[in-house]
Amino acid sequence: MSTAIECHAESMEAFSKLAPVEAVLFDLDGTICDSDPIHYYAFREMLQEVGFNNGEPITEEFFSEYISGKHNPDIGNFLFPDWDHNKYMKFMDDKEALFRSLAKDQLEPVNGLHKLCKWIEDQGLKRAAVTNAPRANAELMISKLGLADFFQFLVIGSECERAKPFPDPYLKGLELLGASPDHAFVFEDSASGIRAGVAAGMPVVGLITRNPEQVLKDAGGSLLIQDYEDLNLWNMLHELEPSIAKKLDASDGNKQ
Ligand SMILES: [Mg+2]
Repeated sequence: MSTAIECHAESMEAFSKLAPVEAVLFDLDGTICDSDPIHYYAFREMLQEVGFNNGEPITEEFFSEYISGKHNPDIGNFLFPDWDHNKYMKFMDDKEALFRSLAKDQLEPVNGLHKLCKWIEDQGLKRAAVTNAPRANAELMISKLGLADFFQFLVIGSECERAKPFPDPYLKGLELLGASPDHAFVFEDSASGIRAGVAAGMPVVGLITRNPEQVLKDAGGSLLIQDYEDLNLWNMLHELEPSIAKKLDASDGNKQ
């Protein structure tokens, strides 16, 4: 059995290998804001209305296991195996409209998010948002949290050939940024999203916003944190700083 110190060393190694880091990719729901309670509420109310589970409200555990972080067509197909595609997608679209109307007033950034974004900007790293959320939700979350100028690209899962947990959205993000998976990492909060990041060849920082730590670990999360004030995260970032500074100095030199 490995000790906590060995686990810590292993997780740090996954990131120190990235030096010099050049890009950071973020999931949105649950990663930049704790939006799952709003999604859970919207699903619970609307599923009860259509008599899902004989009108018994779904539990948070059910939501976490079968819905959180997954792609809408997959969720619709899972919840309503007897409905045709158009019917369950109409349900999902109505649910997203309810989410947006509630989220307008309720979205808050994950603790420390703006401090992390400032560090990323100060280091001159490239950054993209990569999400399974519909475009209207993604744009609402980004603008509500004041990150419209922070993200250089936004990748929507349903606009790729395959959404998360497939690597396609993250590979698309890397391509748009012109970055290599050997010098980039991901922030995620769901097992599905972590699998996508790992399959795209990058280490993933997992946020224990809502989903159980063990589930995120099993999905391949390299470093698990509570929020962006977590000391383990800042130790990792500070370890990467010298190589980023060196690379920036070198590229300044090339320009002269
Ligand atoms: Mg998420």
